[in-house]
Amino acid sequence: MTDDLSASLQAAAEVLRAATDVTLLAHVNPDADALGSALALGLALRRLGKTVRVSFGAPEEVPETLRDLDAAGLLVPATEVPRSPEVLVALDTGSVGRLGPLADRLGTAGQVVVLDHHVSNPGFGTVNVVDVEAEATALVVLRLLDVLGVELDEPVARCVYAGLVTDTRSFRHARPATHEVAARLLAAGVDGEAVARPLMDSHPFGYLGMLAKVLARASLDVAAVGGRGFVHAVVTLEDAAGMRPEEVESVVDLVRTTAEAEVAAVLKELRPSYWSVSLRAVSAVDVREVAQLLGGGGHRLAAGFTAEGDAAVVLEKLRGALEAVGSKALG
Ligand code: 5GP
Ligand code: MN
Repeated sequence: MTDDLSASLQAAAEVLRAATDVTLLAHVNPDADALGSALALGLALRRLGKTVRVSFGAPEEVPETLRDLDAAGLLVPATEVPRSPEVLVALDTGSVGRLGPLADRLGTAGQVVVLDHHVSNPGFGTVNVVDVEAEATALVVLRLLDVLGVELDEPVARCVYAGLVTDTRSFRHARPATHEVAARLLAAGVDGEAVARPLMDSHPFGYLGMLAKVLARASLDVAAVGGRGFVHAVVTLEDAAGMRPEEVESVVDLVRTTAEAEVAAVLKELRPSYWSVSLRAVSAVDVREVAQLLGGGGHRLAAGFTAEGDAAVVLEKLRGALEAVGSKALG
């Protein structure tokens, strides 16, 4: 860990120790790393006697598979986030825009602590702990818990594990030290399979029918990205009817298995002609750069952006950005 990181962790711990009321925010459409990180820290701060709430800008519903992590009932709707929070903590949120409608609280909060692992994070807090080496924001939170001297009990460890197992794709992208962290979480009582299965391997039967439709329309362009290949699929609102966000989000995990493609994309229609796009690369192309050209962000091998318009138009823009970044990767 660098000196800078140690210093910013100490500064974050000081702000939190001095606080009486802490509001923790995950990014919009929160995943297990964002909400797991927020809930882990929230549980710990509650135990230290703080008033704590956890929220996110959109959608209104908490993803079903993440509800169990909220052992202490810390989650509140976005409408219950104070106008001027005493201390605001933004977790796993690589840019201001990812806070969605709650981004305005950055201007009214007394202090803003940013805990993240996105290389593109501009450091929009008064204290910023951004560890780009960390495979998950949950690891940054665990470090902070250690600085705060909070005991790692099972409910807290489970939240950390949820973020870690998903962001590392079941520990495939994990340094040796991160496997040691996993061992520590299991020793604290986490049941790894029980946490991971609902998050990654469990869907209602209707999912199979949705996949059959969506994957049948998937398209492969082997010549794209300088011959490295590009595969994509589109999930319309009609395809997603009756599905949870969890089912829609997992489509990219199948599309990305296409051996002929370095880059995979899934366009997910959130409202009519408004798309959230997931990008994945195998190893050679930096899809964060691609996403950033289109107003989004993320990591080198997993990134995303949002776009308005017909799917065909969004795809054309995406192809343009892919060629711009792909030719650089090859050149
Ligand atoms: P996913 O495809 O799982 O939604 O997201 C993959 C990665 O891209 C995550 O690290 C996430 O933070 C980032 N990401 C996804 N969508 C957006 C977006 O619209 N804007 C930004 N800045 N990052 C995004
Ligand atoms: Mn993350």
